[in-house]
Amino acid sequence: MREIGHFIGGKNVAGTSGRTSDVFNPATGEVQAKVALASVEELRAAVENAKTAQPKWAATNPQRRARVFFKFVELLNQHMDELATLLSSEHGKTVEDSKGDIIRGLEVCEFVCGIPHLAKGEFTEGAGPAIDMYSIRQPVGIGAGITPFNFPGMIPMWMFAPAIACGNAFILKPSERDPSLPIRLAELMIEAGLPAGILNVVNGDKTAVDAILTDPDIGAVSFVGSTPIARYVYGTAAMNGKRAQCFGGAKNHMIIMPDADMDQAVNALMGAGYGSAGERCMAISVAVPVGEETANRLVEKLTPKIESLRIGPYTDEKADMGPLVTRDAYNRVNGLIDRGVEEGAKLVVDGRGFKLQGYENGYFVGGTLFDNVTPDMDIYKTEIFGPVLSVVRAKNYEEALDLPMKHEYGNGVAIYTRDGDAARDFASRINIGMIGINVPIPVPLAYHSFGGWKASSFGDLNQHGTDSIKFWTRTKTVTARWPSGIKSGAEFVMPTMK
Ligand code: NAD
Repeated sequence: MREIGHFIGGKNVAGTSGRTSDVFNPATGEVQAKVALASVEELRAAVENAKTAQPKWAATNPQRRARVFFKFVELLNQHMDELATLLSSEHGKTVEDSKGDIIRGLEVCEFVCGIPHLAKGEFTEGAGPAIDMYSIRQPVGIGAGITPFNFPGMIPMWMFAPAIACGNAFILKPSERDPSLPIRLAELMIEAGLPAGILNVVNGDKTAVDAILTDPDIGAVSFVGSTPIARYVYGTAAMNGKRAQCFGGAKNHMIIMPDADMDQAVNALMGAGYGSAGERCMAISVAVPVGEETANRLVEKLTPKIESLRIGPYTDEKADMGPLVTRDAYNRVNGLIDRGVEEGAKLVVDGRGFKLQGYENGYFVGGTLFDNVTPDMDIYKTEIFGPVLSVVRAKNYEEALDLPMKHEYGNGVAIYTRDGDAARDFASRINIGMIGINVPIPVPLAYHSFGGWKASSFGDLNQHGTDSIKFWTRTKTVTARWPSGIKSGAEFVMPTMK
């Protein structure tokens, strides 16, 4: 059986803790590898490597640091098919979808090629008599990233690209469910010219995470995953004096106004609801048609499209979506569909019991549609993270707006309308981080920043964009006087620039 270890000090190393976790092929249910789960000592070894390598990297001029990312981007493009296939083989999503995952990370690497400009400080000449004042941004030292299974390419790159470009060393703790791609990315970073010890990948579970959160040499922690763990990581990191940004779960709504282009809205819902089998933090899982007539038209048009979704393993080039990631995820999603039926929602398309010939043990769930869902139901309140779309009917715009406003999560939201006034009012009033106007998955591009509100995010700086440069650096402000010709004695009052 293939064993996946760690990547420490510029090379692959085997795990030594004696603990491992199974890595499945989600399409067949077979165990295809074992991933090592790090001990506290193994995490510490990675930190020691990072600590030794980091000062020289921080002292490397920013153009040279940027050149590593120029080369890395080139390597990602050269290896795209291999990387996407590796990702799909453990995650289960289609290879084209995996390419999207990698490209969204690659774009963050392109963004940080501008690090000489992005990390420039501020300078004020003549802030006082013969006084200049300047602020510089210095790396935090060692940063760490803890990432979820659903974007094993994009999310590690959201974190390590800006952290490393800013002059930090980095410890990545990827999801134990699809650990191979992050290791491959680290190998390519070395090929691109990154010195050993600057990017370390430590596989593991709660033991490794807790070791990160309490390690005295790690200055900043970035987390993406489910809300309970995000809350835990944020609190524990803060208690241990680290800066932290932690992103959690989601329940993203799409409001469909009566004037919306219904074909566009339906196609958008198909991609955003069922792409990647709904395992995206920006997936749309709630459709809110405004008015009975809009709702009837929506359900009528969605139903045949959901029934004819092409579901298959990642090797099926024509598949619209693949299986869920694990047996646990499969059981959980099926259980929530059962719950929706018990709660009295109308099950229009039932994805339970979907079987694919030759892949009977795979974790496939068919596209599922519930109508007449109400806000008190568990299937409305819970993040399902599967190919399940709930229709909540709203009488008017205010009632529709109220739904995402009152929901626990605040990651993304979309409105479909031809009415500019309604769209503008919506974007202004909604208490959610990322808004789509006739755009179903409004994931901001690398030069803007990504982050939700409410229980979808803990901390104040977002992923990528200029926020990421702030997160991975500390500000130092220098006040300098070169007082040739200025005579002054001791000053005992608070200095001011009178
Ligand atoms: P998860 O919370 O189970 O795992 C995330 C990371 O935390 C993994 O590296 C895992 O090993 C670690 N972890 C798990 N349990 C832990 C524990 N008890 N203590 C310490 N660490 C622990 O999330 P997942 O299932 O991998 O990913 C899906 C979730 O991530 C969904 O809720 C989804 O919405 C969310 N997500 C959010 C965003 C966002 O940007 N807001 C993006 C992608 C995914």
